[in-house]
Amino acid sequence: MGDGQWFTVTELDESTYAISECGHWENVHSYLLIGAKEAVLIDTGLGIGSMKTVTDSLTDLPVSVITTHVHWDHIGSHGEYQRIYVHEAEKDWLTDGIKGLPIEHIRRDVSRDITKPVPAGFSAETYTPFRGEPSGTLQDGDTVGCDSRPLVIYHTPGHSPGHICIFDPASGYLFTGDLLYTGAPIYAFYPTTDPVQLIQSLEKISAIGRVKKVFGGHHQLGLAPDILQEAGHAAQHLKMHGLAKHGTGMHRFKSLSFQF
Ligand SMILES: [Zn+2]
Ligand SMILES: [Zn+2]
Repeated sequence: MGDGQWFTVTELDESTYAISECGHWENVHSYLLIGAKEAVLIDTGLGIGSMKTVTDSLTDLPVSVITTHVHWDHIGSHGEYQRIYVHEAEKDWLTDGIKGLPIEHIRRDVSRDITKPVPAGFSAETYTPFRGEPSGTLQDGDTVGCDSRPLVIYHTPGHSPGHICIFDPASGYLFTGDLLYTGAPIYAFYPTTDPVQLIQSLEKISAIGRVKKVFGGHHQLGLAPDILQEAGHAAQHLKMHGLAKHGTGMHRFKSLSFQF
């Protein structure tokens, strides 16, 4: 199978694409935002297929990668790009790897429950998450993408310390990575997660105005903006009932669920 067939490309509008990996149990989404002189790629997927093959077929412009967070399932094809940006709090994860996550565990997760033929170049036995120096680091409030389509960075820790959400005011799209998606629980139960911060981050993004659509890093593609209201209410509920703690288990709301 070719790399192109591994990915499913969805045109969200004439200059925005979702690049999805529906053949994998994680159903990961990356997003390509095309400006006038350059393009931004939000995350690079699992690394089972070549993301660059896909982005090359969609644009001739130079592509900068913005990393929502440095988990292996979002940095898979980082090595194929020259310009990579990450929040300053996870720069060392990108250069040194995440401590305490055994490679055997990652190789098992990347290769299980796959429902599509994988590209010929993929091997679970030798799969190794990307490591490398970013071209630059990001902070809360930064504006990136210097041409016609400036994007606003929101630092949203909790799922991981340097997790970011990216808002595109031109389209009203909010890209929420692993802070907010539906179709599976949002995770904050292992040591590098922080349920209290995750809840603060949900409150933070629920206050962003002019959001027309929300795009998460996994599962259901494209959520109506009222999901932000639900996220805000869920955050208040969890806080009020003292549930923002590791070990409190699964918390289910209307479309959202959380595992702490
Ligand atoms: Zn993650
Ligand atoms: Zn993820």
